[in-house]
Amino acid sequence: MLLDVDGVLNPFERPHRGFKRQRCSPNGMTFKLWLNPAHGPSLLELAESTGAELAWASYWCDNANVWIAPRVGLPELPFVPIPQFPGIDEGRTLGAWKARHVAAWAKSRPFVWFEDEPDATKCIAGEPDVAEHLLVEIDPLTGLTDGHIAAAETWLNALDR
Ligand SMILES: [Mg+2]
Repeated sequence: MLLDVDGVLNPFERPHRGFKRQRCSPNGMTFKLWLNPAHGPSLLELAESTGAELAWASYWCDNANVWIAPRVGLPELPFVPIPQFPGIDEGRTLGAWKARHVAAWAKSRPFVWFEDEPDATKCIAGEPDVAEHLLVEIDPLTGLTDGHIAAAETWLNALDR
């Protein structure tokens, strides 16, 4: 289960109950995020009940383990190494760049992707040899909800392993 940070765990609008304002300073830059300490336990329960593994798929990369994981109740997780976006050329977009690295990291493994960037989710199907996957497209204004977790659970339980 691939997990984005901004727009997924950190919604862009002042969110509903349960979220706390957090100050995170990766690489010397300070960001104010909304994070929900109930998200980690829900995701861990989902991982345990379905036998799936959690990993970061975010431009936060390993910084998510330092700044995000402890504030949402997650342990250190593996992460998709996404190099810095080289810039728009040959029609390549930020979302397409992320999709390429997600596909390369997942290899032949089926995956669920919690992601708010429509361009990233649109591009994943075009990557070579991408395995069976569920795109859980998230509204970045509200972020991850119980409905998204339930959708992932249904799909993972139906997966033929
Ligand atoms: Mg995002």
